[in-house]
Amino acid sequence: MTLRVYNTLSRTKEVFEPVHPGKVGIYLCGPTVYDRAHIGHMVGPVIFDTIKRFLVHAGYDVTWVVNITDVDDKLIKRARERNVSMEEIARENTQDYLTNLKGLGVDQIDQMPRATESMGEIIRFTQALVDRGYAYAVEGDVFFDVSKAPEYGKLTNRTVDALQGEGGEAASKKHSSADFALWKSAKPGEPSWDSPWGPGRPGWHIECSAMSHHILGETFDIHGGGLDLVFPHHENEIAQSECCHGRPMARYWLHNGLLKRAAAGKVGGRAEREKKTADGESLTLEQIQQATAEKESRSAGAGGLAAMIERFGGEQIRFFLLRTHYRSTVVFSDEALTESSAALETFYRFFERYQRVTGQSFYDLPIPRTRTAGELAPGTDPLLLEVQRYRTGFLEKMDDDFNSGAAIGDLFELVRLLNKHVDKHQLEDAAQPDPTHVAALGTGARALRELAALLGLFLHPRPAAPATADAERPLVARLMELLIELRAAARQRKDFATADRIRDALGDLGITLEDRKGGTIWRQL
Ligand SMILES: [Zn+2]
Repeated sequence: MTLRVYNTLSRTKEVFEPVHPGKVGIYLCGPTVYDRAHIGHMVGPVIFDTIKRFLVHAGYDVTWVVNITDVDDKLIKRARERNVSMEEIARENTQDYLTNLKGLGVDQIDQMPRATESMGEIIRFTQALVDRGYAYAVEGDVFFDVSKAPEYGKLTNRTVDALQGEGGEAASKKHSSADFALWKSAKPGEPSWDSPWGPGRPGWHIECSAMSHHILGETFDIHGGGLDLVFPHHENEIAQSECCHGRPMARYWLHNGLLKRAAAGKVGGRAEREKKTADGESLTLEQIQQATAEKESRSAGAGGLAAMIERFGGEQIRFFLLRTHYRSTVVFSDEALTESSAALETFYRFFERYQRVTGQSFYDLPIPRTRTAGELAPGTDPLLLEVQRYRTGFLEKMDDDFNSGAAIGDLFELVRLLNKHVDKHQLEDAAQPDPTHVAALGTGARALRELAALLGLFLHPRPAAPATADAERPLVARLMELLIELRAAARQRKDFATADRIRDALGDLGITLEDRKGGTIWRQL
């Protein structure tokens, strides 16, 4: 099995070969913390969290870095509006971001450098570009000279005259409109850091070049981000880093699709393209797309992401995001999320079944940490041969540019197979189920646990639903309990005619009853 990844730089799927054998460095552009996180912010982290899990399982020693931009025009503006310090805005929103990452099971990040804590590296990087003739200073501002970067535009197939959209006072200091700011001089009252060019703050692009270099080196393996960052952000990062070091910044550029609310208007229409900023400056198409994606994501997370996690569950949202291939647009709606959550019930039901058969929790099964450790020795056992087939299928799909959406299909197949095995050998009902079949079920369940863990799913028992007052429970649930009780009473007094009548009548309504060791459960088909 060979891992192949789609590289935006070459626009093809390439065989993955890390710079240093056995090691992988990943840099993902993180949030600008001027506001609360929304679900759109979580697409990248969930995907790269999964990518890291998959690479570790494949045997790599992985370092994953996500930066925090905690100094920026938007933060300064927000601080003014609320009459608090920029640090306070950054602190609140970083905390919110971290809480939401945790809620979605994103816990694989190794380092989260903050721009304000990386000023030394940022200033040194900027100075190096000035020294080498790639940047120039004008009255306290420093700009990157795009005309000096022969390969500029290679990520997005663009010509040098593409506008950066950077306007305001600084625009008049630039040699060319295509140049972009590395360092911005501070206006009175703005937060600032001392630099060789006077007090100021860094531009956004240079932060990522400096922080990724500091932690991962001159050339690292994977640089990730949302599709909205390809231009100008990533194009500019490449120009800065490659001009500074004279070698490629990252081998593979991976971009995740954005989240779009279902039935949202088209992006980039004529009216949108003609939009202008308040100071009359034209926006680039990318900026409009970015703003629109942001707006849609934001409205999709109405009430805050934390409220959404509370309502739907972190695992449900994570599962929903991973069902779409990471390069595609995630079309979001409450209905789609509800439907996707319902599909997860298939797994939870199986875990309950597994516990009834084996007396053990699915969540206590050990998780094989590597491919080799998880390999099965099926021999001639027909069940295990099938399990092995789905495990291989799952890993092959993930090897093909992390196609989690398709791989999830194999998880469903695996559960179907294991359920069939339980039914066929009556493992739940027999007084003394055949230990060989129970053992095979255990091996199959362990494979399911291994593969689901690669997606960061089913790692912990889901939190119990909050105890609901009886009066608030759906009427149907209460009526069903009554019918089940009446049927049990009928059976006890050997009135099988009544018991069967209840069962058959429910069957006509599409409701099945299943008698278990611990009582009867019902299901609507
Ligand atoms: Zn970045």
